[in-house]
Amino acid sequence: TCGFVAIVGRPNVGKSTLMNRILGQKVSITSRRPQTTRHQVMGIKTEGEAQFIYVDTPGIHILGRDRNKAINRFMNQAATQALRDVDCVVFIVDRTRWTEEDQVVLTRLEHVEAPVILAVNKVDRLEDKSTLLPWLAEVGARREFAAIIPISAKHGTNVPELEEEVAKHL
Ligand code: GDP
Ligand code: MG
Repeated sequence: TCGFVAIVGRPNVGKSTLMNRILGQKVSITSRRPQTTRHQVMGIKTEGEAQFIYVDTPGIHILGRDRNKAINRFMNQAATQALRDVDCVVFIVDRTRWTEEDQVVLTRLEHVEAPVILAVNKVDRLEDKSTLLPWLAEVGARREFAAIIPISAKHGTNVPELEEEVAKHL
């Protein structure tokens, strides 16, 4: 089997970090500055009979007064393109924050038929762990997710579990 997996989310949530973690190498540039990934970065992971093709999409950036900038239009097109014909989408958000940009990404996923897994990243930076569960319930109600998995892309926490979930949909 072989499947396409798109990694989506607003800038800075940790898409490139997750991609590098899954692939075990630095294929995608990570940075504290948003918009570091300007093109799609693809990586292939082979596990036994299965092949996963991961696509790290550029951040979706259409808010604010930059919305008509050519670079933003280009990045949006690239992000939308990556969602066609995927077998599975990993939608990343940053622990207990939900921003307008997250909402933009979620809206974009409305017409995606592939299963969407919600990965709540950077849980290593969560100060008060008790806020996580109610927040997961709240975000989980915004759409039907195939699964909701708290992770730390940086430390690798729960990333194998996320990969297992992805594998179910190929
Ligand atoms: P992208 O714009 O979505 O591709 O985000 P990046 O992968 O470039 O990450 C943005 C910033 O968040 C970088 O400084 C990363 O080191 C940091 N980051 C990513 N994942 C984690 C995580 O799980 N925990 C923490 N503490 N920082 C993270
Ligand atoms: Mg990136």
